[in-house]
Amino acid sequence: MCTCPNCNSKVTRVHDYRIQRIKDIPLFFKHTFIILKKRRYRCNACGKNFMNI
Ligand SMILES: [Zn+2]
Repeated sequence: MCTCPNCNSKVTRVHDYRIQRIKDIPLFFKHTFIILKKRRYRCNACGKNFMNI
């Protein structure tokens, strides 16, 4: 549960999950992946979509 940054009402529904791989930072000759799991919410009150990492 989180709060809408636009209108400050509580948002309980997760609209979408997305896993994003930010790849390929060569580090000590190994390839590294940064994995972000983003949650997208949609506010019921104002209809705005926003992200929460
Ligand atoms: Zn809102």
